[in-house]
Amino acid sequence: EKGRMLFAGETTFLKGVVAMDGLPPADRLEVCFAGRSNVGKSSLINALTGRRGLARASNTPGRTQEINYFERDHLYLVDLPGYGFANAPVAVVEKWQRLLKAYLSGRQTLRRAFVLIDSRHGIKAVDDEIMSLLDTSAVPFQVVLTKGDKVKAKDVEPMLNQVRTKLSKHPAAYPELVMTSSEKGDGIVTLRSIIAGLE
Ligand code: GDP
Repeated sequence: EKGRMLFAGETTFLKGVVAMDGLPPADRLEVCFAGRSNVGKSSLINALTGRRGLARASNTPGRTQEINYFERDHLYLVDLPGYGFANAPVAVVEKWQRLLKAYLSGRQTLRRAFVLIDSRHGIKAVDDEIMSLLDTSAVPFQVVLTKGDKVKAKDVEPMLNQVRTKLSKHPAAYPELVMTSSEKGDGIVTLRSIIAGLE
């Protein structure tokens, strides 16, 4: 079954890309992961692929501005640099934004973006900006809530309501939210099957 195939096999690091001409051939479908630095993106990619240490935290020096490509059978998993650094130089941010725009609007094989949101914080202004960019680039995106084990039960519903309200203003957003905890493994199988179900 095709869905299963997409998540079969080992995931390996292919390359870090710093410019559009460095992208690998668009010969298979891909999904990308975006989120504020420290949202838990590396942890989620590692949990998804079952490979501890595969994706490194976005604050690792030297890898912050790269689009990291991971290869898994018929699929590319694409780790976009964490955004929202408080002290990033303007020139660096602008270069990154240009690359991100070019990537999102020019990659035919990009099926879905997963925008990671910390369950404790909900959607912040920088997340809204990325979502607007996804809208204008016509890239369908889905919100993945991270660190679900860290949010108090009473705070879950208000947070989900905030997220749903914000998402209703983004035409490219899927309404379905995925709650995860890389620490506990919650939601990982769900996310795998969503990816595996993409055509
Ligand atoms: P990145 O910068 O987005 O790649 O974030 P990391 O994956 O490096 O995670 C940032 C911090 O959050 C690290 O200290 C992780 O251990 C922690 N973290 C990530 N995911 C979870 C989770 O599901 N639960 C908890 N409790 N901590 C997490």
